[in-house]
Amino acid sequence: MDELKELVHTAKALYRTGLVRGTSGNVSLRDPESPDRMWITPSAIPYDAITTEDLVQVDLNSGLPVSGRRKPSSETPMHSAIYRLRSDVQAVVHTHSTYATMFACAGEEIPTVHYLIAEIGDRVPVADYAVYGSEELARNAVEALQSAGSNGALLKNHGVITVGDSLASAYARAEIIETVAQLAFGAKLIGRCQMLSPEQLEETRKKFVSYFAASKG
Ligand SMILES: [Zn+2]
Repeated sequence: MDELKELVHTAKALYRTGLVRGTSGNVSLRDPESPDRMWITPSAIPYDAITTEDLVQVDLNSGLPVSGRRKPSSETPMHSAIYRLRSDVQAVVHTHSTYATMFACAGEEIPTVHYLIAEIGDRVPVADYAVYGSEELARNAVEALQSAGSNGALLKNHGVITVGDSLASAYARAEIIETVAQLAFGAKLIGRCQMLSPEQLEETRKKFVSYFAASKG
């Protein structure tokens, strides 16, 4: 399946661009042939060694592996919970990217200092802390995404989660969150964070829609 190659490609791109390090982070894709299943990256396999053979297919309701020779990522409960509650979501990316995770460690939302954040929503919420890989973390992450109506969230003292209708969009959003976190960190150092209002972000989103429509046409 070409989609599985794209999943591996996305995981390697996260590693190559430094959004994940070591074996941290994970990526999944809703199974295009069975929407109540997902394909997810394996636990503890170095990114440069991952092939499509290492991906694990998981049942979203039981959270159990259906096929694959590897152990699925430890964050399988979080990915499963998101797909169960958001039928629009086709892909999920989880990273510990440095600047965004610094905000997560401070328990602070990323200030809306750059228009690109409109792609995520009006805000990037912070999900309450729970130990990694737990059902509680899965619940907290889903609650944060739902309450903010956003395509991404910070996980307190942990990292970042983004969702999309494709691997490319979930990946782009993980990159945007890290970029805006860097810019916000710098703006804070300079001493003033000039935030964009929800109205300004909405104006940006409308422009994004016409931009993408034009680029497709
Ligand atoms: Zn993590």
